[in-house]
Amino acid sequence: MNAPLKPPPKAETVDTGTTPVMAQFLAAKAGAPDAILFFRMGDFYELFFKDAEIASAALGITLTKRGKHQGEDIPMAGVPVHALEGYLARLIRQGFKAAICEQVEAPAEARKRGSKAVVKREVVRVVTPGTLTEDTLLDARGANRLAAVSVRKGRAAVAVVELSAGTVDAVACDLADLGATLAAFRPSEVLVPDRLFSDPEAQSALDGCGGVVQALAQALAEPVGARVRVERLYGVASLDGFGAFEEAEVSALGLVAAYLETTQAGKIPALAPPRRSGEAGFLAIDPATRLSLEIDRTQRGERDGSLLACIDRTVTSGGARALAERIARPLRDVATINHGLDAVEWLLERRDLRRDLRDALKASADVARATSRLALGRGGPRDLAAIRSGLTTAQGLAGLFASARDPLTGPSARITACLDSLTLTPQVDHLLAGLVDGLVDEPSHLARDGGFVRPDHRPELDEARRLRDDSRRVVADLEARAQREAGVPFKVRHNAVLGYFLETTAKHAEPLMRGGPDSPFIHRQTLANQVRFTTVELSELDAKISQAGHRALAIEGETFETWRRTVQELAQPLQAVAEALAELDAHAALAEWAAEVGAVRPILDDSTGFQVEGGRHPVVEAAVKAAGDPYTPNDCALDGSDATTGDRAGARLSIVTGPNMAGKSTFLRQNALLVVLAQAGAFVPARSMRLGVVDRLFSRVGAGDDLARGRSTFMMEMVETAAILTQATDRSFVVLDEIGRGTATYDGLAIAWATAEALHDHNRARTLFATHYHELARLEDRLDHVCNLSMRAREWNGELVFLHEAAPGAADRSYGVQVAKLAGVPAAVVSRAREVLDRLETDKAAHVRLDDLPLFAIADPAAAPIRASAVDEALIGIDPDSLSPREALEALYRLKGLAGR
Ligand code: ADP
Repeated sequence: MNAPLKPPPKAETVDTGTTPVMAQFLAAKAGAPDAILFFRMGDFYELFFKDAEIASAALGITLTKRGKHQGEDIPMAGVPVHALEGYLARLIRQGFKAAICEQVEAPAEARKRGSKAVVKREVVRVVTPGTLTEDTLLDARGANRLAAVSVRKGRAAVAVVELSAGTVDAVACDLADLGATLAAFRPSEVLVPDRLFSDPEAQSALDGCGGVVQALAQALAEPVGARVRVERLYGVASLDGFGAFEEAEVSALGLVAAYLETTQAGKIPALAPPRRSGEAGFLAIDPATRLSLEIDRTQRGERDGSLLACIDRTVTSGGARALAERIARPLRDVATINHGLDAVEWLLERRDLRRDLRDALKASADVARATSRLALGRGGPRDLAAIRSGLTTAQGLAGLFASARDPLTGPSARITACLDSLTLTPQVDHLLAGLVDGLVDEPSHLARDGGFVRPDHRPELDEARRLRDDSRRVVADLEARAQREAGVPFKVRHNAVLGYFLETTAKHAEPLMRGGPDSPFIHRQTLANQVRFTTVELSELDAKISQAGHRALAIEGETFETWRRTVQELAQPLQAVAEALAELDAHAALAEWAAEVGAVRPILDDSTGFQVEGGRHPVVEAAVKAAGDPYTPNDCALDGSDATTGDRAGARLSIVTGPNMAGKSTFLRQNALLVVLAQAGAFVPARSMRLGVVDRLFSRVGAGDDLARGRSTFMMEMVETAAILTQATDRSFVVLDEIGRGTATYDGLAIAWATAEALHDHNRARTLFATHYHELARLEDRLDHVCNLSMRAREWNGELVFLHEAAPGAADRSYGVQVAKLAGVPAAVVSRAREVLDRLETDKAAHVRLDDLPLFAIADPAAAPIRASAVDEALIGIDPDSLSPREALEALYRLKGLAGR
């Protein structure tokens, strides 16, 4: 990506042959060199030169030419003004930036400077993914955030702004936590100083966050200049009033400020002071873990199928964003988490109130986004209506909760705080009264279309409208009069060029054309079949109507501007109302979901315990139930302390074995997701849950492909394992699924073994370790805090039945052959595999001595039955689906041959 704030390239300098408009274009382009420039010319935005070529290819619009520049044709493309948003959306989605250059004066103004004067134009905004505010360009249920990253003196910081909510966050963290911190915000766009952009360590943090990365000039990250810029953004003399920021935080905030200054062309919305949330306040979840647990997106990048989508019962888009935020950034502080749980519990216990609350919220609109658009000068009358509906809901809710304000049974602290924010200040109340009184029920999208101010709101507007409408009635009468007078069938019509005119067919027009100087009908235009006339009276009426129309529009424009400015001034209290509505929606939605699925309140403390009884995986349960099957709940107990050895239930590390498809991955993820839900202040799908709060959550699946990043599968697996081993603490929670699968058997076993040992001895994290290396079950005898669990399966009448039940003890076998049979591998191959397996198991009993560690000693060639492994390899090489019956038979003979029979 280019650095947008670098000085513009010198290539397209203005030469003497350049027209004034082209000179204006080139100057605008120089100010936004890396953006596609949309240059307003009347009813179109035109694109020139390379921009036209790029846009034509990206948007499928026609490429034409217009005039010459330095002797060459100028490529040109254009889009109609009303269609801009749609085209912008497509460009932004394809990773482009766009600059909007508007006409900033009316053509009439320009003409006052002389007939050749060019209308003034300016770049009013650079549209980038992180600074979008338009509803059509945004996901209503997801936040749109712009982040900046900086590293100073070994400390990293992330600054995040959400223009739509007017919020700013600053988080300082260790460099190692940068990835998790950034991913928690799910930014759409990330700004980084040049130097960091090319730093491999930062690169991996940036890679996983999902946003478009923009490199900015290094100088913009220097703390002194950055501080000045942030102070200017807030209009304060010193940042210290907001808190004692670390250097890295100031630097990151400075990058955001610089970017807003350029992209918003000086029109910066009122932003709330930066919230400083040290990373210590949040459960750290790195990008790989988020992906693996499918917290807010599935591995394929879709919202559907994620934890968030599964539990989301919010009824407003603001509420959906608040819930997403809560799930994306679970907390660590027991008291704060309990406040959230109190709110959910309080609403869970009050079904009727919850229903009324949700009904009331459904009727409200997206106050946060409407406010930000109006404050940025991009909103319209419909946004005012959204504010009116949100404020009306806020007022209604105060009444709804009035009876519930009992000091003993009254709302929890968080709900009370929300209700307090819903109490409108006198200024906001005044704004609401004005909107109720003056704004029509369903106003237009754009202010310039008019018609959104109610009659009786402004007498001078009513007057102008009456004049306009009266004259229109006279025009309608005039049609009949003209018909009578001329004896021809006239129709009164209107267009933008001629205004009002009388139209008749060419045949009827003939006598009128010969009418002579006394005829009242003045010819205006002849078309193929129609001829158009006017009369002195009609053109006078036309002038009156258009004058009155303009006046009405001007008065409406003024009214809109007054409201808009008030919204801008009241942006902070309005955003507070929006936030409170969103939070109430999120609490109520969690209560609704808890009621629906029978979730319970988790009990949190500062221990290192983890006990779940009857836990369920919310997403898999929903899928299994939708298919008409029951879901089997499972218990899980782990304890990070050294206290519990006893019967081992509740050891620090559980080795989970069982056949493929038995439910190991589901069990692992289920427990990790319960941690996420509990610390997000949500109820959990279980009979009970006790949790010592977790500081970092890790989830890895062995041998996950990451070809996009060009790392081999196994390398990737090891990089991720290394991250866990260096970062997990005795307060962390780790789930590892089939680690070591991506390499040769003994390598893999060795790595899995050593990883489990290290997690147990050094990290001491609570760990669930699923493996197909049954040998790992021996760890239970060798280490103090390990217990074995297995997912039970039973062979019944020769068929394999999965019970999905986690039981103490290791799996006796892996049932791979049975699973192959279930998967439809031909019977002959299955039966041969069974023979080979029997043989292998006999050999193993004779040769393999796993207890004779060090582990690597088992790579003794005598222990590896050579002939059998040739059969194994041949078996692996067979793709049953692609074999013809004859090839299958040949394969079978080949296998028999290899086995020496
Ligand atoms: P493994 O990791 O052992 O191969 P999975 O966890 O992928 O197995 O589970 C396989 C399938 O079994 C899941 O897709 C789900 O349909 C079903 N399943 C898993 N756990 C349960 C459960 N507790 N109750 C009911 N069905 C389950």
